[in-house]
Amino acid sequence: MLLQISEPGAKAPAAPKRVAVGIDLGTTHSLVATVRDQRPVVLEDAEGRVLLPSVVHYHADRQVEVGYEARAWQSEDPANTFVSVKRYMGRGRGDLPDHLDIPYRLADAPGMVQFETRAGTVSPVQVSAEILKALRERAVRSLGEEIGGAVITVPAYFDEAQRQATKDAAKLAGLEVLRLLNEPTAAAVAYGLDQGAEGIYAVYDLGGGTFDISILKLTRGVFEVLATNGDPLLGGDDFDRAVYDWLLRETGLATPTPGDARRLLGAARSAKELLSERTEAPISVVLSDGTRVERTLSRWVFDTLTESLVKKTLSPVRKALRDAGLAIGDVKGVVLVGGATRMPCIRQAVAEFFQQPPLTDLDPDQVVAIGAALQANALVGNRGGDDWLLLDVIPLSLGIETLGGLAEKIIPRNSTLPVARAQEFTTWKDGQTAMSIHVVQGERELVSECRSLARFELRGIPPMVAGAARVRVTFQVDADGLLSVSAAEQTSGVEAKIEVKPSYGLKDEDITRMLEDSFRHAQDDIEARRLREQKVEGLRLLEATEAALAEDRALLSEDEAARIYQGMAQLRQTLDGSDWEAIKAAVEALNQASTEFAARRMDHSIRRALAGQKLEQLQV
Ligand code: ADP
Ligand code: MG
Repeated sequence: MLLQISEPGAKAPAAPKRVAVGIDLGTTHSLVATVRDQRPVVLEDAEGRVLLPSVVHYHADRQVEVGYEARAWQSEDPANTFVSVKRYMGRGRGDLPDHLDIPYRLADAPGMVQFETRAGTVSPVQVSAEILKALRERAVRSLGEEIGGAVITVPAYFDEAQRQATKDAAKLAGLEVLRLLNEPTAAAVAYGLDQGAEGIYAVYDLGGGTFDISILKLTRGVFEVLATNGDPLLGGDDFDRAVYDWLLRETGLATPTPGDARRLLGAARSAKELLSERTEAPISVVLSDGTRVERTLSRWVFDTLTESLVKKTLSPVRKALRDAGLAIGDVKGVVLVGGATRMPCIRQAVAEFFQQPPLTDLDPDQVVAIGAALQANALVGNRGGDDWLLLDVIPLSLGIETLGGLAEKIIPRNSTLPVARAQEFTTWKDGQTAMSIHVVQGERELVSECRSLARFELRGIPPMVAGAARVRVTFQVDADGLLSVSAAEQTSGVEAKIEVKPSYGLKDEDITRMLEDSFRHAQDDIEARRLREQKVEGLRLLEATEAALAEDRALLSEDEAARIYQGMAQLRQTLDGSDWEAIKAAVEALNQASTEFAARRMDHSIRRALAGQKLEQLQV
């Protein structure tokens, strides 16, 4: 094929364009955005609203309503009105947070939760598909053409099952998913942070019912998620609650009717939102018995009422920083996401915590959708230049086989590409000069249950005592998902290397099956792992004791030696069995029996080393 070259100075002919959209499929609200004339725009519904409440209501005749119309049914018909369905995506019954109170009838089915509605059984994927369909229709209407593809955002902590569920929902809604994008990354892209050089960014996302903090690291145009944390049951709704409780206390209303409770809660939310602009908010509610509740809520009182909620967001922030191994001063910028970050008390707390004002130029409701739209636009090739991000994640963990047939994970699944991680390993036997490296992929603890990707050997390690060699194994996955593994012995510099294509041939069904397996067998795996670890520990101790006896048997009395031999025999016996606790006990017993021996050997070798040395030489 010949490459085309345009005349110098002439503009290249515009490629036929496809319209791509970015979708923020949120827990409380969803949005769709696109790029028009190089600028991101958030698309409106027929009434000029950009937010679509993520609420779906099912009628008996299978008619479905989405958004504001659906939300109107929430208190009247909660069992058929789905709010916050995102919490259930890709989740089984056992995965749901403990304190989640569920107004729905859950169907008795294995796998992902299913809801019984009056229109039949529906899955979270189907409910989400209704929201996506509504957004797709909105986009088609306002753009006047079919959508070429969509980037849909997901929380950074979403696992493969949750991501897959999101993709399936898009498929059901007739959308081609160009890519799933992490929400905090989308927010960072919206602020153009990917255009910067390098740095650490924190994304603080307080939505309606969830709080997420993500620590991102930008290097050469690629964001890596260093840590995520949050509180799945903390959001703007809790601030509404605090105002509502205050209203009840103020009015002495102990048990309002469901209708009054809804009105009071609605008024509480409006007052909260108004207080983001003003310092006082009037509240006026007419109750079902005709009485009128009139109060004024000041920002000062509101801040006092919600102080503990604001504080509650900061401990996940601390944890995330700690997990990422970073200090507050390492953070170059803070991005605010989520409608609830409009509250001045939040902005102030974030500014104080990070010792810098957060980025607030973009609308916190829209920032994720805008980033997704920019990414979608780039992916369909409407953006010039080649300096664009290539973000993808590893679907299953990558690691190597260690002693006892255990899989040691080196790159955890869902790591953003490209990624490199290294870990040090050592030799098992004295004088060992080669090491066999077996690269595996999967979530299971045992190598036999993972997928074998490649094997290679590191040879030429200088002979040393067991445990002295330091072999650094580095995993590197480039933006196209190509994995290379290298192993280098640190003291001698000998090196070996191999390239593998990690997910080659792994179909989506395989991934799902492997994940399901890993959930199902998690308990067995822990048992098996303990057993193998204890066996390795037991063998190691036997070997070391044998070596010590061979060298320094003379330091022991007959009695002492007999006790050690007995301990060894006992340990050997337990090693043939499969009771990890018995092995552990035998290891401890042998350790105890040989403590004195070890101490004597130490003394002996120190004396041997010191013999003939002058005192002053020792004092340096
Ligand atoms: P999600 O990401 O969960 O879909 P959103 O980002 O849409 O959530 O945030 C919804 C929350 O933001 C609600 O609790 C809403 O009351 C709150 N919110 C929206 N606007 C404001 C405002 N002006 N002041 C305070 N809170 C607001
Ligand atoms: Mg959100």
